[in-house]
Amino acid sequence: MSSVLDRFLRYVRYDTQSDERSTTYPSTAKQLVLLRDLARELRAIGLPDADVDAFGYATATIPATVANPNIPTIGLIAHVDTSPEMSGADVKPIVHRAYDGRDLVLPDDPSLVLRLADNPSLAEQIGHDIVTASGTTLLGADNKAGVAEIVTAAEYLLAHPDTPHGTIRIAFTPDEEVGRGTTHFDVARFGADYAYTIDGGALGEVEGESFSADAMTVTFVGFNTHPGYAKGRMINTIKAAADFINRLPADRLSPETTDGDEGFVHPYVVQASVERTSVKLLIRDFQTAALAEREARIEALAREALSRFPGARLEIAVEEQYRNMHEVLVRHPAVLEYARDAVRQAGLEVRSSAIRGGTDGSRLSFMGLPTPNLFAGEHNFHSRLEWVSVQDMEKAVEVIVNLARIWATPAASSA
Ligand SMILES: [Zn+2]
Repeated sequence: MSSVLDRFLRYVRYDTQSDERSTTYPSTAKQLVLLRDLARELRAIGLPDADVDAFGYATATIPATVANPNIPTIGLIAHVDTSPEMSGADVKPIVHRAYDGRDLVLPDDPSLVLRLADNPSLAEQIGHDIVTASGTTLLGADNKAGVAEIVTAAEYLLAHPDTPHGTIRIAFTPDEEVGRGTTHFDVARFGADYAYTIDGGALGEVEGESFSADAMTVTFVGFNTHPGYAKGRMINTIKAAADFINRLPADRLSPETTDGDEGFVHPYVVQASVERTSVKLLIRDFQTAALAEREARIEALAREALSRFPGARLEIAVEEQYRNMHEVLVRHPAVLEYARDAVRQAGLEVRSSAIRGGTDGSRLSFMGLPTPNLFAGEHNFHSRLEWVSVQDMEKAVEVIVNLARIWATPAASSA
């Protein structure tokens, strides 16, 4: 029986980088290579219905071992794509055995060193085996650790039919990193009552809160003409947009000046030309109502800038991205409660934190499938210094198995 580590080392060698500029689904065809191989692997371990649908979602069913129709069907979800921000091609994973606090130098770029001093969570890993990439790529623990943990838990449950559990559905998804992981996800067809993404960080983490998020585009429209003959006619929106950006708060309400429960406003892309300049902004807060206040303030700042450029006009577009999953999960307290029980039964302390971002679960929760996020052991996401510990991955497998068992207890049937 292959271990979670063997699987993980196999999956990270697939280049599954997604691409936000792509208009196809999935955004890159190479994700399908892993998704299809995962379906094949799930069939091979004994899940005959494992398959990949027209959009690339790989799903499978672990049949119940207890004949009680009241046991809810639970979903386990992980994404196969890796971040467009960092190469995921030719990943060469390295297992650093028996970590003792030493510096871990990444051989393909020795200037990259994973140090205990910079990574306080490594202090919990003494004696464990740490997996990193080799220095030129990310590792892909986000979220292939979760994929490996789910497949290994499935294999365990199939090998131990004496473990009581209800029906469990598995989904491996593409394009999470480009915010499209759930675009074509068919919640009704998936058929789970509740689900968990296995895509979190430190050991014991149970995440039931995420940001609420909008994307806002502020566009200045002006007038371009030959610059030699432009007097009194040209309206240069590059200058209007610069004026607007200058009015945005720099010392607060920014990603670089906030943490904890504070939200922010984040200009992250500018497309500029004399006649038309667009500024794209991310609007984030844990309180959904605060988004509209922030957006009204942004619009007011844009109008102030606009007033200095007579003849220019403004176009504002706001797009909902995702909402704080807490608003849904609060109505289904058992979902988080059982996750915490599963963590404790594995001998771990529960860590509850709010995600300063969104997960596929944020969207799925609002699509009718309450889906918090559980730890997978991922650290330093999207970075060449990404790492995961083998022992954390093994604990995640144990937590998933516990969770399956807990949902089959009599109390859960009425959840
Ligand atoms: Zn992820």
